[in-house]
Amino acid sequence: MTKKESSDNFDVIVIGAGVGGLTAASLLAKAGKKVLLVEKEPKPGGFVSALIYQSYQFDTAARLIMGCTADSPFGPGPVYTLLSQLGVLKQCEFIRVQPFVTMRLPGSSFQMWSGRHAFMEGLKKEFPTGLENLPHLFDLFSRIYRGVISFSTASNPWGLLKIPFLFPDLIRYRNATVEDVLVRYIPDLRPRTAVASLWPYIGLTPGRSSFLMWATMMASYIEEGAFFCKGGLHRLADVVANAFINQGGELMLGSEVTKILVKNGAANGVELASGQKFFAPNILCGIDCRHAFSESIDPRQLPHSYRNRLDRLEPSIMALNISLITDLDLPALGFGFETLFFDSWDVEQVWRNLINGQIGIFSMTMTTAADPSLARPGQHLVSALCGLPAEIKRTPEATKKLGATLLAEIEKNIPELTNHLVFAKNGALTEGYIDQVFSSIYGWAATPQQIGIHRLGQRTPLKGLYLVGHWTQPGHGVISVVLSGMAVAKTILK
Ligand SMILES: Cc1cc2nc3c(=O)[nH]c(=O)nc-3n(C[C@H](O)[C@H](O)[C@H](O)COP(=O)(O)OP(=O)(O)OC[C@H]3O[C@@H](n4cnc5c(N)ncnc54)[C@H](O)[C@@H]3O)c2cc1C
Repeated sequence: MTKKESSDNFDVIVIGAGVGGLTAASLLAKAGKKVLLVEKEPKPGGFVSALIYQSYQFDTAARLIMGCTADSPFGPGPVYTLLSQLGVLKQCEFIRVQPFVTMRLPGSSFQMWSGRHAFMEGLKKEFPTGLENLPHLFDLFSRIYRGVISFSTASNPWGLLKIPFLFPDLIRYRNATVEDVLVRYIPDLRPRTAVASLWPYIGLTPGRSSFLMWATMMASYIEEGAFFCKGGLHRLADVVANAFINQGGELMLGSEVTKILVKNGAANGVELASGQKFFAPNILCGIDCRHAFSESIDPRQLPHSYRNRLDRLEPSIMALNISLITDLDLPALGFGFETLFFDSWDVEQVWRNLINGQIGIFSMTMTTAADPSLARPGQHLVSALCGLPAEIKRTPEATKKLGATLLAEIEKNIPELTNHLVFAKNGALTEGYIDQVFSSIYGWAATPQQIGIHRLGQRTPLKGLYLVGHWTQPGHGVISVVLSGMAVAKTILK
């Protein structure tokens, strides 16, 4: 997909071909701008790209997306809007995942379904009482989601000024955690823990995670539905990357930006590891902000207050993933696309276990449940993921040890798995799986103080330098980074 760069001068240079960077780059190219997109990996997508092993393709980071249909109660979703604006809607076939998750807690198992009624019924089977206020929560989630979309897509300052009046919940709950709000709606501990149990997708326990971020996620799961993409979720990134090229954009893969060039107090270009330099009056930075503002740019180019703010921001957790192939009939054992396993009802204990190197919670995703063509008949692709608090030391030995612990945890729940690892049978991998560590999986931690307008803005104090992706507003996840890409493209086009 790489095009050979044709000149040194562009209208816009985008650093990082994650979904945030891809969204902005493709929309700007479509609008006629001359855009260079530089990506250090040999493939685009960032956390939405595939881990390839032999003929298998694993989606090891992002696995489920929302916002990809035309007919949700909130109108066309952001992913749908992007693909239709680029004219590539037909190239991604989205497969609805229902139920979107199964939760397994000690002595209990329940499923979460999209659709208000189905969601309620899924929980009520296990918790017949205590969920009477759930319909009010659904309404609140929806109001918040509408507010977030309006905030992210506001086309002028007047539109932005109106948001607090049109969506007062955004102001009311701006400092609230999930626990702060849920305790008022669901006083009983067990049903409350159950409703909050998607907290690992935020990367923080309910006592620390932003209610606005969680409510937005819940609204999209419940009202829009969760989807996988035929051929793998990474196909979404490939389709947008191809659309970018077809609009005349230039994509350089396997090229690392080492410096953001600054002249007369304005960002005006990038330097690559190879020493090549490219110039543009607009630079979009879609990479880890901590790296960008310390290694790629002389921090003295930034005002003291901005540097202080950067120093105070808390990054999100890391994660360990192991990917394996099994010929065990997991659907016959009751497993669907996604299962979350918790070893305790006490979420703070689960978190402490993680810090102490035990795995108190992990997810298991079987992408072949949505698209069986991803593996040979009778085989399943499984990726298991557990969060790692930033305090954990990241060494190859520690990763190996944690990978083995994660496999042992899966085996506790599925004892037959060990004898059904296809990799091990082939002798291709001694462990029987591939391990991967992701750092700062959601950009900044999604605390109330680091989400929405509290997250770094897309404009930076350095003229010509903008942020895109999950280090900037409105937050993390594919929908959020698509919204950030749309917003920054709009700003530049103005
Ligand atoms: C394990 C995991 C599971 C997740 N699950 C989901 C999910 O199910 N659903 C969901 O919606 N979201 C999920 N997310 C979150 C979602 O994937 C991210 O929020 C989103 O994809 C981030 O996109 P981005 O464009 O901001 O950044 P990234 O995807 O991080 O992209 C940044 C890109 O910049 C490149 N880059 C870095 N440095 C340089 C450099 N110096 N020069 C050039 N290029 C560079 C990187 O290689 C990368 O391609 C998950 C994330 C993780 C890690």
